Amino acid sequence: MTNQFNALVIRESATEGQPQTVAIEALSDEDLPDGDVIVDIDYSSLNYKDGMALTGAGRIIRNFPMVPGIDFSGTVAISSSPDFQPGDAVILTGWGVGERFWGGYAQRQRVRSEWLVERPRALSSLQAMAIGTAGLTAMMCVVALEDGGVTPDRGPIVVTGAAGGVGSVAVAILANLGYTVTAVTGRPDQHEYLRSLGATSFLDRDALTGPSKPLQTETWAGAVDTVGSTMLVNVIAQTKYQGVVTACGLAGGTDLATTVMPFILRGVRLQGIDSVMADRATRDRVWARLATDLPAGVLDTITQVVPMSAIADLGPTILAGQTRGRIVVDPNA
Ligand code: NDP
Repeated sequence: MTNQFNALVIRESATEGQPQTVAIEALSDEDLPDGDVIVDIDYSSLNYKDGMALTGAGRIIRNFPMVPGIDFSGTVAISSSPDFQPGDAVILTGWGVGERFWGGYAQRQRVRSEWLVERPRALSSLQAMAIGTAGLTAMMCVVALEDGGVTPDRGPIVVTGAAGGVGSVAVAILANLGYTVTAVTGRPDQHEYLRSLGATSFLDRDALTGPSKPLQTETWAGAVDTVGSTMLVNVIAQTKYQGVVTACGLAGGTDLATTVMPFILRGVRLQGIDSVMADRATRDRVWARLATDLPAGVLDTITQVVPMSAIADLGPTILAGQTRGRIVVDPNA
């Protein structure tokens, strides 16, 4: 067998009703799926959706066996695409990779060239995955706030699920751009961490997950919500006239029991954010912003690197909201 490398493989149990199995296996190029580019992977990362894949929650894996990992950074090894040459530094996020198609928890992967973007020169491969899908999504939220006319002088921005991956990157970018940031977290012991990223005030998760009135005191010029459910309902109810709420996550639930009042009386805009199917132009724009608007030192504060052998145990931890910031996965460690 040629080109042996390691990959984390999730297999369905042979016995109906039994949990899936997760193990590192030795594969070769012949085992890889169809595609026109093979990438030597430097790093992948752990996102909420990876937690779902690793634990079987939400049945997000569509085909077994599956190599999970919804993003990766690496170097093109073999390419039959005119768009990429061996040696090119690339990033992949989304497109169903790690759910429907094999993903980044591997030393090597074969993918479709249209899913790849060039890694910005200002970012190392490690920094690209310290950002990863979560950071791309955070920047998409910030860009949506800007596109909606939310400038720093309009008032504070609230970030929910602030100590998580998307939340941490959003806090850091917004603070760096001069916004006043209020961080909502269920973990008071993370206030100092969030302060180091630039948050200046804090709200306890419980303050925004209780029963809500449709219109509350106008407080936020904008919001980055990673939580959904009652948290999002309360955030919308507290958003100022013509403010923008970006909704990207469901860590607290998928329901949304609100009324039209904030929209028709205050002109509040609820902007959905999806990074998975975002087009190439959006990705290039957002990655370019990440290369300039997220201080490298702050990125280091957010990031922890773990070997691929540690990742299966971290799946339940991220779903429980117990990981902090971003976890980068090193498949070569
Ligand atoms: P993390 O687990 O790192 O962050 C989620 C955070 O939400 C936790 O750290 C915690 O923050 C908070 N939280 C967790 N559970 C609850 C709860 N029950 N009620 C209220 N708050 C809770 O995940 P990610 O940052 O990777 O992802 C965040 C969300 O964004 C996920 O739902 C994910 O699916 C979604 N997402 C969406 C994308 C898109 O394209 N739309 C792309 C990437 C992610 P704290 O302890 O500070 O309260």
